[in-house]
Amino acid sequence: MKAKVDPNVCIGCTLCTQICPEVFRMEGNKSVAHVDIVPKEVEESCKKAAESCPVGAIKITE
Ligand code: SF4
Repeated sequence: MKAKVDPNVCIGCTLCTQICPEVFRMEGNKSVAHVDIVPKEVEESCKKAAESCPVGAIKITE
């Protein structure tokens, strides 16, 4: 599974970095996915972060 943040959509609320810091971190005022492949053990929290994003900036792909 992979996750990607659209920097044109992210409003920098930091929510995803709190829910799943194993995948997301703030770089400047935007979140980025800092791993290429989402580790199995954090897939659920990564999905939760994507669902929780208020602007739908996180795309999950297999
Ligand atoms: S939850 Fe969405 S808007 Fe907030 S920092 Fe993460 S990607 Fe950006």
